[in-house]
Amino acid sequence: MPRKLGQHFLNDQGALRRIAAALPLDENSHVVEIGPGRGALTAALLATGASVTAVELDPYLLSWLRENLPHERLELVAGDALTVDLAALSRPDRPSFLAGNLPYYITSPLVRRALEARAAFRQAVFLVQKEVAERIVARKGSRDYGYLSALCRLYAEPELLFSVKPGSFRPPPKVDSAVFRLLLRQDVPAQPETERFLEAAFRQPRKTLRNNLRGLFDDELVSAQPEAGLRAQQLDLEELTALHRRLREQSANALS
Ligand code: SAM
Repeated sequence: MPRKLGQHFLNDQGALRRIAAALPLDENSHVVEIGPGRGALTAALLATGASVTAVELDPYLLSWLRENLPHERLELVAGDALTVDLAALSRPDRPSFLAGNLPYYITSPLVRRALEARAAFRQAVFLVQKEVAERIVARKGSRDYGYLSALCRLYAEPELLFSVKPGSFRPPPKVDSAVFRLLLRQDVPAQPETERFLEAAFRQPRKTLRNNLRGLFDDELVSAQPEAGLRAQQLDLEELTALHRRLREQSANALS
């Protein structure tokens, strides 16, 4: 059952080296890798001199790795990357990074977990379905721009690095893939209210902000804003957070 758990193994040394080289790794660095599989990316990461903690869900692959890739700088963790405490696997005394050729079915929740763990990691580099990578780096005006793009920009600086064709994997996936990097904003505190606002603003992407923000703020107050007739897709993160701030201030004033 090779496709179980999104198991498409990367079999392209050039792409593997480029993924590892996308992070500034040396002997002092530590990487938490998601889904090592048969260790192709793990080996490229270890070759930089960094230490690696790799989280793998499949017990068969874990025992395969224990047998075939024993390494003094590699620690294997049996578990689900969506539930393990990623920050606890970082090394507070050393620059720590996240990496992975992600199983596509967990991409969005895993990216959110990486953003949540930003205080513990400097950067993350992930290989994902190209369409999702394009959504993550998209900016206002693009068809791909949505909640995930805005959320990534709130807590990181996302960059699209390069594409990987299906033929580079065994077995090949049905779609193109791409590598992107997140420069994590380690000092930005969690902003749950802003997240809720962005989620509401993009909920129905074709509808106007007046429509999507109904329920979050008073209708009349939203309608009075110059952006009310626009769609969230037409505003960048700064414009959206400025609107949020104004709505909060004006609704607080209306109550006092
Ligand atoms: N890194 C390897 C490579 O590049 O060839 C394998 C990548 S493969 C796309 C995804 C890997 O993630 C598989 O080894 C799969 O078993 C593992 N995996 C799937 N779901 C997972 C989860 N929730 N937590 C951790 N690993 C998971």
